[in-house]
Amino acid sequence: MVYPEQQRRAYLKALGIDVWLPRDVPDDIIDQHDAPSGDDEPDWDTLEQRVAGCTRCPLAQGRTNTVFGVGDRDADWLIVGEAPGAEEDRLGEPFVGRAGKLLDEMLRALGQSRKTVFIANILKCRPPNNRDPKNDEVAACRRYLDRQIALIQPRIILAVGRVAAQNLLGCQDPVGRMRGRVHAVNGIPLVVTYHPAYLLRSPSQKKKSWQDLCLAAGIARENGA
Ligand code: SF4
Repeated sequence: MVYPEQQRRAYLKALGIDVWLPRDVPDDIIDQHDAPSGDDEPDWDTLEQRVAGCTRCPLAQGRTNTVFGVGDRDADWLIVGEAPGAEEDRLGEPFVGRAGKLLDEMLRALGQSRKTVFIANILKCRPPNNRDPKNDEVAACRRYLDRQIALIQPRIILAVGRVAAQNLLGCQDPVGRMRGRVHAVNGIPLVVTYHPAYLLRSPSQKKKSWQDLCLAAGIARENGA
């Protein structure tokens, strides 16, 4: 079911959930994101074509493939990571390699898989040398992720890693401060957890990550998943 934006915000407020909106963006601009379909609200195929041909930021020059995202376009869960790495750029798919395998395990523990969730990144093109995304790159690319969120209307967004969470929430907090509670982006509940690559380096944090996944699963259920 698709909820009108104001109804979703009222629902989240009633649950006592913080509703985070991008800084310095007036409400009337936010509300335009939920306006009726038009040229600026492309369908999936048009959106995918636009991303494939996008030159809105300099990362277009160094990419092999854009990484649009994979999974169920009607998913209850939207997983958002940072940006493509070398293998993702080569294959055009997010979260491959060892970190991707761990993400697959995390999804399996939730009774989900790559086919039942949708996985996307903050950036659709690879930053050189896997550096952090720059603010202007994120700003240029954000419209694509926002449109994916609007099209999917997920029950829950899981932000994996510092870069994804900070950019989605418009803050500079460390993951340790953002995890453990429910935020919201574009009117959708959002939970933050550690990036699987970090969990591979710091396996002692897996327990906290499991707590985050349980929190997200509970919110997804409350939200109708
Ligand atoms: S990162 Fe995003 S905005 Fe930049 S070229 Fe790729 S698709 Fe376009």
